[in-house]
This record gives sequence, C-alpha cells and structure tokens, in this order.
Amino acid sequence: KAKGLGKAQICYFQESMQQEFIARVHIEEGLRHALEKQEFVMFYQPIVDPVNNAVNGYEALIRWTHNNAVVSPDKFIPVAQESHLIMDIGRWVIQDVFANHPPFRNDNCYLSINLSPLQLKDPELLHFIDEQAAHYHIKPNQIEFEITETAILDTSESIHTLLAEFVAHGYHLALDDFGTGFSSLSHLRDLPISTVKIDRSLLLTEPQDKREKMLRGLSELIFALDLDVVMEGIETEAQAQLCTALNIHRAQGYFYCKPQPLSIFVSVQSR
Ligand code: C2E
Ligand code: MG
Ligand code: MG
Ligand code: MG
Repeated sequence: KAKGLGKAQICYFQESMQQEFIARVHIEEGLRHALEKQEFVMFYQPIVDPVNNAVNGYEALIRWTHNNAVVSPDKFIPVAQESHLIMDIGRWVIQDVFANHPPFRNDNCYLSINLSPLQLKDPELLHFIDEQAAHYHIKPNQIEFEITETAILDTSESIHTLLAEFVAHGYHLALDDFGTGFSSLSHLRDLPISTVKIDRSLLLTEPQDKREKMLRGLSELIFALDLDVVMEGIETEAQAQLCTALNIHRAQGYFYCKPQPLSIFVSVQSR
C-alpha cells in the first residue's frame, strides 16, 4: 500500500511539474510580446515615516496585464530572468519611471527601482541609466536601486566594481529582502549600500517577543553600520508602532497604501 501511495505521489509530482513547465512556457511566450503590446504599467507604493505618516519615498513596482489577467511579478520576473527578457523589460522600467518623473519628488524623497541580478551583468546598464536620467532631468541622488543578495552571490569582483560606480555616479543602493535566504552580515559590511530593506517575513516571526527582539537587534546592527532601514510589509497599526519603537523612519506596506498607478498620487498632490 505504501508503495502504491509513493507511486501516486511521484505521478502527482510529475504532473504538477509538467503543469508548471507549461505555465512557464506560456508566460515566456506572453512576455515576448508584452513590451510591443504595451501590457506593462508601473505602480508606485509610498514609503512612509511611521511617526507622522509623511511620505519620504516611493517604490516603483511593475504590473503586467496579459489576457485580461494581472500576472504577479513574483511569477513573471523569474521567467523574464531565465529567458533574459528582463534586459529589455528592465530598461523599459527605468525609462518609464524616469519619463513620468513623478512630480512628487522633493529633496528628501527617494524613488526606488528594483534591479534583477541579471541586469547587473549588462555592461551598458549604468551608461543607459545615466543617459535616461540626463534626458529626463532626473537627479541621481533621488534614485535608489534595490538589489537582492542573489545578485552578489557569485562574489565576482565586477559586481562590486559596478555597484561602486553606481554610487560614484550619485545613485543610492538598497539591499532588498534582507533576512531571507542568503542574508549575510558581510554584505552589510562590504557592499556600498545606504539602505537595508528588512523582508516582511521577519514581521511574521512567532512568538511575538522573539520577533521584537530580532527586529530590534537587526535594526540596531544596521543603524550601527550607518545604514538606513526600510521595514517592508507593514499591514497593521501594531506593526507600524513597532517601527516607531525601533526608530525606523521608513516603512512600507498595505497599512499605509497599496501599490497604485501614478495618476492616483498626482491627483492627491494637486488637490
Ligand atoms: P519587492 O521588491 O520586495 O517588493 C515588495 C513587494 O511586497 C511588492 O510585491 C509589494 O506589492 C508587496 N507588498 C508591499 N506591502 C505589502 C504588505 O503590506 N503586505 C504584503 N503581503 N505585500 C506587500 P509585488 O509588486 O508583487 O512585487 C514582487 C517582487 O517582484 C518585488 O519584490 C520585486 O522583487 C519584483 N519586482 C517588482 N517590480 C519589479 C521591477 O520593476 N523590476 C524588477 N527587476 N523586479 C520587480
Ligand atoms: Mg523592492
Ligand atoms: Mg523587498
Ligand atoms: Mg520581494
């Protein structure tokens, strides 16, 4: 009987793998034409000071509508990476964000843009960004590029050189999703980042006292290294209060605002 069950499980496994494979092929096929069909749009999510709810930045987040359905970036960004379509999509993101250069920018307001690991292998990336920034009159010091630790995993010298060049050109760098997967203290020490974004999964740590101790210790460590903290995934008042208690002045989450199209914020501003 046990044997039979095992077999059934293997079948199920293969079937779900096959379904996933087919889903990926469909996503990749759709992605190939998504740019020309103008199926992408950028949404923006405010980053807020929990003390006074003042907005001090926005993260740009891509949205893809395909066959009348919205496909989550968590689904299609990995496929875009594997198929290298992320190179063109990533450039479109930068161009679109700069072109619409959000009118809410002020001197203490950052605009954050996610970069996939593969984009950092493009030797022309920084040149492209500089060109677009000049063309749209974007000040590099108002732009923060979010990178994940997977980008640095190959520990190649060239990635470190490239990141240093970003900083030399005036852009800020943030380490995204810290506290998941490969988080390493050496990255906090060695990378030319100015901000660490603590992954929202750490907010879900149980039990509560452990959660608070962990977040306190982590944020104090980051502050001690002269880095700024963004807490991701604030969904409740209690979590917002925890940020205040921990001296965290940049918080992001549905509690404040979901990612929305730019037009929403523009109309709020001009009211
Ligand atoms: P991320 O960079 O860590 O972005 C934060 C994600 O958390 C976003 O998901 C955002 O909508 C979501 N989020 C914000 N507040 C809350 C909250 O309170 N609760 C919950 N449950 N979620 C919250 P999204 O937009 O689906 O993007 C997922 C990931 O896809 C991003 O994670 C990023 O890694 C990638 N991504 C999104 N846009 C881009 C892009 O333009 N370029 C690249 N290369 N990657 C992108
Ligand atoms: Mg991000
Ligand atoms: Mg993140
Ligand atoms: Mg993420």
